[in-house]
Amino acid sequence: MFRSCCPTVDKLEAFAKCPAKGWFSEHVKNCPTCSKIVSDLRDESALVAELQQAATAEPSPSVRRRLKGIAREAVRDPENG
Ligand SMILES: [Zn+2]
Repeated sequence: MFRSCCPTVDKLEAFAKCPAKGWFSEHVKNCPTCSKIVSDLRDESALVAELQQAATAEPSPSVRRRLKGIAREAVRDPENG
């Protein structure tokens, strides 16, 4: 088992999105550092996917109220401010 050369984060990111079989998956399975990075990246992309879904789906009234509040906070109209 060679662990001395971990793949770069770029490659781990690509792997997290599109897992490929082979030495890479073997390495990730056996390397705590890389498996942690991959699982973090997956959590991140799962969150992004959830947010994207929430953005396209009809939000519940309470979510919509909160989003409107956030949008008002974020986008202050300079002409009216
Ligand atoms: Zn590694």
